[in-house]
Amino acid sequence: MIHIKTDHDVTMLRRSAGLVGEVLAEMARRIAPGVRTIDLDHVGEEIIRDAGARPAFKGYRVGTEVFPASLCISVNEVVVHGIPSNRPLEEGDVVSVDCGVELNGYFGDFAYTFPVGELSVENEALLRATKQALYEGINRAVVGSRVGDIGHAVQQYCEARGYGVVLDLVGHGIGRSLHEEPQVPNVGRRGHGKRLKEGMSICIEPMINRGNAQVTVDADGWTVRSADGLPSAHYEHTVVVRRGRAEVLSSYEAIEAALAGVHGQAIPDSSGNDRDSAAAPDDGITNRITRFKEAILG
Ligand code: MG
Ligand code: MG
Repeated sequence: MIHIKTDHDVTMLRRSAGLVGEVLAEMARRIAPGVRTIDLDHVGEEIIRDAGARPAFKGYRVGTEVFPASLCISVNEVVVHGIPSNRPLEEGDVVSVDCGVELNGYFGDFAYTFPVGELSVENEALLRATKQALYEGINRAVVGSRVGDIGHAVQQYCEARGYGVVLDLVGHGIGRSLHEEPQVPNVGRRGHGKRLKEGMSICIEPMINRGNAQVTVDADGWTVRSADGLPSAHYEHTVVVRRGRAEVLSSYEAIEAALAGVHGQAIPDSSGNDRDSAAAPDDGITNRITRFKEAILG
């Protein structure tokens, strides 16, 4: 069943997404050569718990496997669901951080792929294309489209550039559950799939390989890797389906401000525009975090 969100629901989902944004902005400030991903996980968990929320991924169960950490941190050829470890990050790595929280009964879930120091030309292009593919998908998340239109847009954009679109993992609805209907694949046929209705909240999350689309899963039951060992990227936003233009609840603004401040190298959109803030024009990050804190504290 697909839940249509009320204005109150959307307000609550925006707060949850705001907390995820705080965690990811802190990752942007900390990610550097020599940093261990397990330490990033601890920092993320502390921010989540200090806000009175719960890390949604920690203890997440699929069959008999239980995810052991607060963040999914996926380095280089790890596509998603990487388990934080003692391995130090190295110059040139690409690091996808996916964060989920439950705050006041509503879930937040979005992701960003970070550069560690200077990237190769190929990896920087991968990150830029994956992020742009996400926006191509978001542009289709409007009343009158179908789920297949989103996947079609992501797939077309990436395959035209020679990238592998991971089929095995999909986006999803989000609300009072982390994963709701409908599934939102990154491939699709135009005009096919569930009809998008005003007030549906969905996570769109392309997982894009520099090489082919095949993946494997480690013996730990979680770690998804590209089969050819080439790097992979993952960007995710939470959006509400609206008429004309999707309402983006998650924001990269604080993340990219932090990246620009620390490294001087946020991954620019292909357009050169900040499409993220264009989608949410009133969302000054300072105001948003202040509002968020007011909401938590008061
Ligand atoms: Mg998700
Ligand atoms: Mg996620």
